[in-house]
Amino acid sequence: MIPAELPARLTAAGVAWTDDLRQRTVMSSDWSRMSPVLAEKLPVGRYVADLVVRPADAGQVAAALRIAHALDVPVTPRGAGTGNYGQATPFDGGILLDLRGLDTVVVGDTTVTCGAGARLTAIDRACRAAGRDLWMFPSTKSSTIGGFVAGGSAGTGTVEHRTTSDGFVVAAVVAPMDGSGRLVRVTGEELVPFVHVYGVTGVLVEVEVRTDPAREWSAVYASFDSYAALVAAHRGLLALDEVPRLASGDEPPLVASLTTPLDPDRWSLRVIVPTTGVAALRAHLEASGGVVVGTVDDYAETDRLSGMSYNHPVWFFQRAHPDETWFHLETSGRPLWDRPDEVRAVYDGDVWLHLELFAHGPGAMLVARYTGEAELVAGMARLEALGVGVHSPHQWYVDRSVELARDTARATDPKGLLNPGKLVAGVGHDSRVNIGVVR
Ligand SMILES: Cc1cc2nc3c(=O)[nH]c(=O)nc-3n(C[C@H](O)[C@H](O)[C@H](O)COP(=O)(O)OP(=O)(O)OC[C@H]3O[C@@H](n4cnc5c(N)ncnc54)[C@H](O)[C@@H]3O)c2cc1C
Repeated sequence: MIPAELPARLTAAGVAWTDDLRQRTVMSSDWSRMSPVLAEKLPVGRYVADLVVRPADAGQVAAALRIAHALDVPVTPRGAGTGNYGQATPFDGGILLDLRGLDTVVVGDTTVTCGAGARLTAIDRACRAAGRDLWMFPSTKSSTIGGFVAGGSAGTGTVEHRTTSDGFVVAAVVAPMDGSGRLVRVTGEELVPFVHVYGVTGVLVEVEVRTDPAREWSAVYASFDSYAALVAAHRGLLALDEVPRLASGDEPPLVASLTTPLDPDRWSLRVIVPTTGVAALRAHLEASGGVVVGTVDDYAETDRLSGMSYNHPVWFFQRAHPDETWFHLETSGRPLWDRPDEVRAVYDGDVWLHLELFAHGPGAMLVARYTGEAELVAGMARLEALGVGVHSPHQWYVDRSVELARDTARATDPKGLLNPGKLVAGVGHDSRVNIGVVR
């Protein structure tokens, strides 16, 4: 329950809100349904905010937080709601802060400064028109920059520029939940406790991120007759003079449900490269035993490839098999290239790998049949024993910069009202063992 005076105080401050049940229910859920564990724990309608609040600018965010602080009302920030860990679920009700109204985009010489609710599609379009390329964007390109920085980590551009934690963010304007109604500009090392911590240390109202001079990009499709041949091509990409912007590989069962019709009997590799590097890439793919099935020198076509990267092939596969239950894990490390059969053997039955390329080597969405939470969790330790890094998309706790976030939140959110239930002690590296904890 929220205090009766909350709506009137928001209205007096000029801040829009709704208590419409349908809107509150929709806005209180995200893409956690991709996880069978979270789908059970966070079904749509179990945790619903009391109000959806829609600030139109940074000043209204600050005003809404000041009022919420005074009345002890929890606030959960939300961008486009594409996060897949349930990390925008309003566990304690209160206000769901819809930030999409903050959608300004100003392209500078080497950066772009955006309202937190601006979508990556709009930001990229503005950058390209000004002769700049965003360092990176996720496969969910319609998501917001605030949500990407606060809840995402990597995407197209990551091979060269690594993750959102590696210099992508130059500055942010943050609204703390300390009753002050202030807006604080944060730069340099001070940004760390605001990146990938789900808004628990403050609401991002503006974000400045890096750009490069624009290049022409091409989309290259190749196919292979085995996983070994796919891997030979994938690992060699890091040695090319012109590093790809994206390099996504899939096994045949995953290929069959991609949105571009590709040969479902062959292993697929889809690469975005600078157009000037296409000839060298084609030569490399053919030398690795691949068949180049298409090259398109068109930016829109590279977006189509981005839309088939990271979590998207998992989602397409789940959508194509509605009567079966599959889960995925975010994994990384050379065993994905070198010992794939040992990796697959960690889970019973069919296990498929969707490969991505990082500067340090491969990452993969490992896709396996869901037989229960305990079996899923047990497999993580077996993967780590093989030298495979695991990040669990089946829990909602902040698991990066945890102690720093807790220290920061003590000052920026002393009442613990921001996105409650996501920042808890002792999660850190072993966050996966807490999967079973339900509030
Ligand atoms: C099919 C699929 C594919 C995906 N592919 C990728 C990918 O390629 N790379 C990747 O990194 N992620 C990926 N994701 C995860 C997600 O789409 C991205 O992280 C996305 O950028 C999140 O943005 P959003 O606007 O939807 O944020 P939301 O889901 O609305 O929010 C994400 C988190 O950030 C917090 N938050 C949102 N806005 C703010 C703000 N302004 N200030 C403070 N906190 C805020 C929310 O409370 C929540 O905890 C994928 C998800 C799906 C379902």
